[in-house]
Amino acid sequence: MRKLETKTIVVASHNAGKIREIQDLIGPFGFTAKSAAELNFVEPDETGTTFEENAKIKALASAQASGLPALSDDSGLVIDALDGDPGVYTANWAEKPDGTRDFAMAMEKVEAALKKAGASQAAQRTARFVSVLCLAWPDGHTELFRGEVEGTVAWPPRGSQGFGYDPVFQPEGYETTFGEMSAEEKHGWKPGDAEALSHRARAFKIFVETCLEA
Ligand code: IMP
Repeated sequence: MRKLETKTIVVASHNAGKIREIQDLIGPFGFTAKSAAELNFVEPDETGTTFEENAKIKALASAQASGLPALSDDSGLVIDALDGDPGVYTANWAEKPDGTRDFAMAMEKVEAALKKAGASQAAQRTARFVSVLCLAWPDGHTELFRGEVEGTVAWPPRGSQGFGYDPVFQPEGYETTFGEMSAEEKHGWKPGDAEALSHRARAFKIFVETCLEA
């Protein structure tokens, strides 16, 4: 396992919601971090078929473009009744013909697919959010960290916080969706905290334990 020795990194993402959450998570560590979006880096094609492959593609692209270590996230919603869909294609389900993304439409699509599968009861609507973070160095070395959170797909959507599919994801043991939670509740995690809730915060905790702590 390679340790991260520098405090200047790139957040290898063009997704505003993810960038905000990753900036919140790295905040306590004193990093100076610009995002691939701010640096006007071209968004690489996500040609992989796993979260790990796509996370690597994104982190390596930013590390090579910047000459700095880069931290990416590839994530998605894996729904049991849909045989794991939308999975690595979670962002694609939100894509409109003009290239923009519409998550209200994407959540409707998920609901239509669940209806078609006959999944009306909570027990039939189990799902997990997966996040794979990749730290890549300009020399091509990569480290991967995976976080998952179990839950169910709620309908109708509830709450307006967070981003993406947050209004339809209700984590196990909670009455609220991610869309109804504060940023602190969803992905707040700092050194010394035993637990993190969100998939991204769980992956980040492993990144810290692996690459930052002595
Ligand atoms: P990708 O990793 O760029 O392929 O996109 C993953 C997609 O999954 C995002 O565009 C979001 O729609 C969705 N997603 C990933 N993490 C979250 C989350 O924490 N909340 C809501 N949606 C998420």
